[in-house]
Amino acid sequence: MSSLKRILVTGGAGFLGSHLCERLIDEGHDVICLDNFFTSQKTNIVHLLPKPNFELIRHDITLPIFLEVDEIYNLACPAAPGHYQYNPIKTMKTSVMGSINVLGMARRCRAKVLQASTSEVYGDPQVHPQVESYRGAVNPIGPRACYEEGKRAAETLFMDYHRRNRVNIRICRIFNTYGPRMHPYDGRVISNFIRQALMGENLTIFGEGTQTRSFCYRDDLVEGLIRMMNAPDEFVGPVNLGNSGEFSMLELAELVLELTGSRSKPAFLPLPADDPLKRQPDIALARKKLGWEPTIPLREGLLRTIEWFRSIDLGHYRPPTPNY
Ligand code: NAD
Ligand code: UDP
Repeated sequence: MSSLKRILVTGGAGFLGSHLCERLIDEGHDVICLDNFFTSQKTNIVHLLPKPNFELIRHDITLPIFLEVDEIYNLACPAAPGHYQYNPIKTMKTSVMGSINVLGMARRCRAKVLQASTSEVYGDPQVHPQVESYRGAVNPIGPRACYEEGKRAAETLFMDYHRRNRVNIRICRIFNTYGPRMHPYDGRVISNFIRQALMGENLTIFGEGTQTRSFCYRDDLVEGLIRMMNAPDEFVGPVNLGNSGEFSMLELAELVLELTGSRSKPAFLPLPADDPLKRQPDIALARKKLGWEPTIPLREGLLRTIEWFRSIDLGHYRPPTPNY
């Protein structure tokens, strides 16, 4: 039997989704990219349109859709705080109804389905670094809850479809990932700092800048997703995927200023509500089960990302579509 598959990538036009589509197309698979372009734009995938093994469907994953596929990567969901808080009810619907729709499809087609979950399921963690067995500290009524609780509910749905309906699932908890093709106005810290540094604007540091994140370069992350999809069926996760190098926002700002050669200055703004104070993945499980670990250190990944930011025309990007 051929090892080539029909693969659906929901959110396939996004930052991570478009790279995943590229990788899968290069491996020869038939790839269907489904997206409603809420936080992305066609420029991310326009170069893929002429490929005979690529198909684009503009569709909202909160609505059912019938497709025949062998594998599904479920990435559809706004991921940056500004994007997911823009219409929080829609964010929750995307995680919950989107998961129900892809899980129903997977059940009908006997397809394997991978959920792009997040380190946000750990909330503002009391355990450091975060291991998969940690159940998290999420504020269920805060401004981040639409995303955090939506993703937690999605994990629940994945596990229940797996236990009750024997759907072949995978759950990956992705930690902060960056790289070329991030939306330059998504409000995430790396896109903000690089954009601000290149434009000579102040670097907006929230709080005192002592909060930490661990940043993974997108190629490493996409490799982890593919390895998880191809892992033996007994291993459904959840598995953490991220880079364990941990940096404060002040350290990140200094590095971006050094690498861009910018003379921008820091500007301190209030820390948003429920902003996690620290975050670092424990990736022992991914190492053991997937033989995976990140290969690209922050400095190198930032250089590549800065180069891409220098090459784009910021006028081509717009904020998320209103009235969602
Ligand atoms: P992104 O915003 O670039 O990509 C998300 C894509 O989903 C976009 O193309 C968007 O238009 C699409 N989308 C949103 N709602 C949709 C809907 N209702 N129907 C169809 N398409 C929809 O973000 P990303 O960073 O590429 O994130 C991809 C996935 O990975 C998300 O599920 C996100 O939660 C998860 N993730 C990302 C990170 C990260 O640091 N990048 C961290 C943790 C988890
Ligand atoms: N942050 C910041 N300045 C910015 C944007 C973000 O200091 O311009 C901080 C934010 O408060 C958080 C960290 O950077 O502590 C990471 O934010 P991001 O939105 O990138 O990711 P998340 O909070 O979802 O991990």
